[in-house]
Amino acid sequence: MREWQNRNKESIYLDYQASTPVDCRVISAVEEYNYTYPANPHAIEHAHGWKSHEAIEQSSAAIADSIHVDADEIVFTSGATESNNLAVLGLARRAPSNRRRILVSAIEHKSILASARAVSQLGFQIDVIPVTAAGVIDTAELKERLADDVLLVSVMAVNNEIGSIQPLKSIADAAHHVGAVFHTDAVHLPALGTIDMEAYDVDLASFSAHKVYGPKGIGCLYVRRELHDKIEPLMYGGGQQLGLRPGTLPVPLCVGFGVAMGLMVNADAVVERERISELRNQFVERLQQLYPIIRLNGPSLSHRHPGNANLCLSGIDAQELLSIMQPMIAAATGSACSSGNPEPSHVLRALGMSIDDAKASLRFGIGRYTSGDEIDRAIALISDALLRYQDLGEAPRRAIL
Ligand code: PMP
Repeated sequence: MREWQNRNKESIYLDYQASTPVDCRVISAVEEYNYTYPANPHAIEHAHGWKSHEAIEQSSAAIADSIHVDADEIVFTSGATESNNLAVLGLARRAPSNRRRILVSAIEHKSILASARAVSQLGFQIDVIPVTAAGVIDTAELKERLADDVLLVSVMAVNNEIGSIQPLKSIADAAHHVGAVFHTDAVHLPALGTIDMEAYDVDLASFSAHKVYGPKGIGCLYVRRELHDKIEPLMYGGGQQLGLRPGTLPVPLCVGFGVAMGLMVNADAVVERERISELRNQFVERLQQLYPIIRLNGPSLSHRHPGNANLCLSGIDAQELLSIMQPMIAAATGSACSSGNPEPSHVLRALGMSIDDAKASLRFGIGRYTSGDEIDRAIALISDALLRYQDLGEAPRRAIL
């Protein structure tokens, strides 16, 4: 099986936080199930169905093992957008009448912010908790806002734009102290290798396969057993998955997700993380040596997602620069889920950055298939693009060169 990077010599993929290439070991597992197991995994009256059912059980067990929970606490969804909606809307729709407030951080993904907005129409008050300049939740403010009328606290484990890491256990403790449920959007947590939901004492957690070298279109919500009857499903159907998320499960995608999660926590993953963070550090440090005006947005290199570099190129229009770099470099001006949105990133604004600096920022995501040679070429291509940017008369307000 060919590795992904061999097919893309021309263009350098540095957008691993938007989506990851599918690992060839995942593709093999998915293909095998596509060819071999045609049955509906819920058709448990015949032997073909048993095979598919067994595959689902094995993949939920693999996912559950990787995050230290039980297999019956994994609810498959179509991805983290659905998982986040199920957590917020599902919990709100069955909430006791005395719990009418939801706390979210200012740097949540749009799928949390928009579902919180939707439940505000059901009479819930949404409190947005600020973050520090390093993108870490203001725990004093969080504690201040926590009271026994809070239903849910939702804070993203590792931020998709700036890679900041939240103190999950202390947020969980504070939420539990007032009897609130703690949900975390844990989509980027596997990149850190420590995905122990039990140790963090998390109640609900969202994951997505395409962020961990798995297929697109599959994710899950971890639902702590005690909450199984406290969540109203978003859809109604044949009662699959405890009725929390009915519908026929896509066996090959579930299998691929299980394999992908296993690969995030095996022994090789430790070496991989070190390699990725070393490449990321070189990338940032070398660019900053060439252009001292370039600043790292958010936390320091040692306190963030190992493959994340969010850089402010003051005075530059990042969208324009990125378009000059097409098709040679894939990077992002914000989260892919907000693409097409001309507004500057709400995450960068929440750090206290000006609109101009937020619009001058680019996110580079480094991952499993990034090579040292690609980092060298990316730096050269960025330098060329900056020269062309100036030649095109896109005179930087403050010269970067
Ligand atoms: N949460 C975070 C932090 C994300 O980065 C993303 C993807 N951009 C999502 C949720 C949505 O995930 P999905 O694409 O699986 O719906």
